[in-house]
Amino acid sequence: MALNLIFLGPPGAGKGTVAQAVMDKYSLVQLSTGDLIRAEVASGSELGKKLGVIINSGQLVGDDLMAQMLEKDLAKKVSQKTFKGIILDGFPRTLPQADMLESILKKLKQKLTAVIYIESSKESVVYRLSSRWSCSKCKKVYNTITMPPKNAGVCDDDGAKLTQRDDDKPETIGKRYDTFIEKTSPLINYYEKKGLLHRYDGNVPPGPSIAAAEKIIAGIVKKN
Ligand SMILES: [Zn+2]
Repeated sequence: MALNLIFLGPPGAGKGTVAQAVMDKYSLVQLSTGDLIRAEVASGSELGKKLGVIINSGQLVGDDLMAQMLEKDLAKKVSQKTFKGIILDGFPRTLPQADMLESILKKLKQKLTAVIYIESSKESVVYRLSSRWSCSKCKKVYNTITMPPKNAGVCDDDGAKLTQRDDDKPETIGKRYDTFIEKTSPLINYYEKKGLLHRYDGNVPPGPSIAAAEKIIAGIVKKN
């Protein structure tokens, strides 16, 4: 049976790293709606042209078009002999999208195996993401966790002050976190009720986080 997984977690939870490790281990393919949209536009198809117009006018791609693309791409992936399962990233984000995904999977005789929720506190997400600083003069980038400057707050090369982009500031990261929790909680409840949700404590370094996810998946594989 194929292993079809959704990963959920706030920005900064390490979702990309964990998903990549799981994908490699189980030979899964990733399905990113952002990549799908870009590929379709680049292909110059009728659908791609329609999407191009929408994106260039700054609008969001609606669920119907998204469903068409998803179905087309999934059908192609599922039909491959080497198909072992998919990892969905960035989709679904809403309940209607979750329903849509379910019906697409059903059409292709597939089932959602599990939803892995990487629970992370606001503090740990802010700690990780606000570690990026750069020199106001030469633009050299530092990471206060993994690559700190010799003297706090100043550049090693020229002694100029280090500054943060708005995106990397604790307030901005905190706001993004709140938005994620608010928007995603209906989805979490939805998958919890279906018995598909598996959560783990993501307030740990990447190694233990990957290990926790793999332990959950190993348990699921055993049961199926
Ligand atoms: Zn500098």
